This record gives sequence, structure tokens and C-alpha cells, in this order.
Amino acid sequence: MDEFGLIRRFFTRRPRASDVVVGVGDDGAVLAPAPGKQQVQVIDTLVEGVHFPSGMPAADVGYRAVAVNLSDLASMGAVPRWMTLALTLRDGEGPWVGEFAAGLFAAADEHGVELVGGDTTRGDRVVATVHLSGDVEAGAALLRSGARAGDTIFVTGTLGDAAAGLRLFEEGQDEDYLVRRFLRPTARVAAGRELRGIATACIDVSDGLAGDLGKLCAASGAGAEIDVDDLPVSDALLERFGIEQASRYALTGGDDYELCCTAPADAVQGIAEVTAIGTITEGAGLVCRKGGDIVEVDDGGYRHFA
Ligand code: ADP
Ligand code: MG
Repeated sequence: MDEFGLIRRFFTRRPRASDVVVGVGDDGAVLAPAPGKQQVQVIDTLVEGVHFPSGMPAADVGYRAVAVNLSDLASMGAVPRWMTLALTLRDGEGPWVGEFAAGLFAAADEHGVELVGGDTTRGDRVVATVHLSGDVEAGAALLRSGARAGDTIFVTGTLGDAAAGLRLFEEGQDEDYLVRRFLRPTARVAAGRELRGIATACIDVSDGLAGDLGKLCAASGAGAEIDVDDLPVSDALLERFGIEQASRYALTGGDDYELCCTAPADAVQGIAEVTAIGTITEGAGLVCRKGGDIVEVDDGGYRHFA
């Protein structure tokens, strides 16, 4: 199947939303943005062998290519609307593309996102770039930069599952809760919407909590203090790996796509499902405690000061 056949067969669907004036098929998409809204644009690339393992099921690669972008929009408090897809494929990957497209549309359909265009090329490995456009009420986008000393730090869901899941997947398992958490990340779009006007700052946890909270702090010109024992971990992670290793995954493991936000302590209660994990401070950078003692964080997790 040539490039045009692939596009027709797998990526051309009648748009369901009336704000898509012209979708796939012309030289460009024509879209009708909602009056008064601000646009939020995000893009993320998945390179085979770098951002996902070669053996990852095609449908999961498609799902993930959308989910990682949904997560960026979630952390901005935006509603996802339209996406474009730049896809590089090896020769003869027709069946793979069909499954990829099924996963891609599954993630898109969960949020009413329309695929409005793209580009299809040949290369020596799979590269999938999704650009996603969302909108938010004027001035209401959640930024990394608004955290203030005294704010409480919260996270949605549980941390560390995806990093553990990747390890299990690479060991050959696929029917496991933790592996599913890696293969099919849940973007916290509803939570991001609920946090508008409440959170002072927000970031999605893609590279690991310690690193991403560090970015939020840097953007806010503030510091943070968290306790490793307060990090929310799933029963599955605890049972499988024990508390020490679970905490390490929760602190530095990537790919969770939960939200980390800051807000006055009582502002978030009853709004979004979040767990308090620490406090924003006047200092710079992240101070990590475990049962009162300061621990040092590096890529492998944390170490007690010797
Ligand atoms: P052009 O040569 O004008 O750039 P293409 O032949 O690359 O156009 O694409 C034809 C149409 O198909 C365009 O509307 C483009 O946006 C769309 N398209 C190409 N690849 C994809 C894809 N992977 N997913 C969705 N739409 C695509
Ligand atoms: Mg053209």
C-alpha cells in the first residue's frame, strides 16, 4: 500500500465535530476555534527504541502517542480538540499501521479529539509525532510558574507504576496491571479542568516526580519539600516490589502522566482526587525527606546521606 492508500484506509474518517471545516484530504485543515478561548498547542514525538520498546504492540504505540499529548494539555487545564500526525514507517507495515490507528483513535475518541491532517513518510524506524491543539478560557491556563511558598503540593493517582510496568514488559510480561499502566497511560484531562482557578501551578509527571517537580519549582522561583513516605503508590506496585523499591519508582520513575500541582492546602479538597505530598518553600530546588531524615535523590531513586 502506498502512502495515499495508507492515509485513505487508516487515517481518513468523517469528522464528528462541526468545528472541523476541512479535515484530512486537502493541503491544510480549516478549523473554527471557539470565540473567546485561548489556544494551547502541544507536540510530542515517540521514536522507536528510544521512547518505546520495539516490541510494544502497535495499538499501544498509537494510544500512547495521543495520551502523552493529552497529558500536556491536561496539565494546562485545556480541553483537547484537534490533532495532526506525522508518521514515519518502515516498508510493508500495513497491518502494523491498522493497529496503530486503532489505538490512536481509541485515545482520541475518549476526549472527542479529531485527527485533521498529517504527513506520512518512510524511514528505517517508526517515528510518531502527534501535535494536539486544545483550548482554555482566556487567562485560565494552568502554568508551571505560579507556585508560592506555603502552597501544598499534590499529585493525582499513583506514582511509579509505569516505570515498574516498563521493566516487567521488558522481562516479557504483558497481562499485568503495572504493564498496562505503562502501555496505556491515562491522561488526567478532567482533573486538569477541575484545577483551573484553584491550582497555583501544575505540571504533568512524564520524566519522574523529582525531575518534574524540580521544573515546576524552577519556573516558580521556589523550592519544595516532600516526604517519600507520602507518595501515593498502588497496591500492585507495593505487593510486587515492596515499599523501598516502590518509593524509588514513585520518586524518579517516568511515564506516569499524573498531574503534580500546587495550591493552598484546603483549596483542592473535594475538587480533584489528589494526594498531598509536601510543601512549596522559599528555598531553591527539591528537598526530600523520609521519616524526617533528608535523603539524596538521583536517577536511580534516593539514597540516605551517608
Ligand atoms: P501534501 O503533499 O499536500 O503535503 P499529503 O499527500 O502529504 O499532502 O497529504 C494528503 C492529506 O492527507 C493531507 O490532508 C494531510 O494532512 C493528510 N495526511 C497525510 N498523512 C496523514 C496521517 N498520517 N494522518 C492523518 N492525515 C494525514
Ligand atoms: Mg499539498
